[in-house]
Amino acid sequence: MSSRTYRAEAIVLKTNDFAEADRILVLFTRHFGKVRVVAKGIRRATSRMAGHAEPLTHATYQLARGRELDVLTGAEARAIYPDMRDDLSLIAAGWYVAELVDRFTADRVPSAPLFDLLETALRGLDAGVDAPVVCRWFDLHLLDRSGFRPELGECAHCRQSLAEETNGWEPAVGGALCASCATQLPNVAALTVRALKSLRYLLVSDLASAARLRLDVGLARELDRHLRGFLRYVLDRDIATSHLLDELRDLRRPAPVS
Ligand SMILES: [Zn+2]
Repeated sequence: MSSRTYRAEAIVLKTNDFAEADRILVLFTRHFGKVRVVAKGIRRATSRMAGHAEPLTHATYQLARGRELDVLTGAEARAIYPDMRDDLSLIAAGWYVAELVDRFTADRVPSAPLFDLLETALRGLDAGVDAPVVCRWFDLHLLDRSGFRPELGECAHCRQSLAEETNGWEPAVGGALCASCATQLPNVAALTVRALKSLRYLLVSDLASAARLRLDVGLARELDRHLRGFLRYVLDRDIATSHLLDELRDLRRPAPVS
């Protein structure tokens, strides 16, 4: 093997078709961070690597260094998460976690902890863990590992401990607020006791323990709202896939009888 080629374990975050049969893959590699590579001729029926060039594929890729983009020269599948791919709400959750990784990472900055987090989330979805639980667990641990852990232990404003009552949530201040600060500051959302407990539990749990959390519709919506607000504040933009998840959730709910 020449020194121009290297192998990288990676998960495909997203793809873009271009030219006649080529595709750009955005790979999140375990050891080299996020890398953009070109898969030449991948969209031809004869391509042997086509099955490894889809979003959320986990494989070991063989790559050749190129002038602008590295070039895909071989691939060996590690996991294709077949059960996740069978269910639209699970695969949409997979796209969601992949989009978040893409948003939180710069090219070629290695982060093995983020790679592990992504792999664990995809495995969890494939194993049938409730998609909203996986997404909220992922939100919190991604924020934590990226240096943006929300304050859940005490009031982010006055540092008093949080009483067992409805408190507040304001991403711009850093997370949870005591009931007193919540009434004095603008734009504070209500944070229920059970939502605060769930956030704390998710943050200290691995995914296997988090999977025991049962989220009813109201609690799932509240956690989604709070973490979505926090992510929007950190990223200064919306997560596109979360709108797809909203649509899928609304599709599943039977229409109200009038
Ligand atoms: Zn306070």
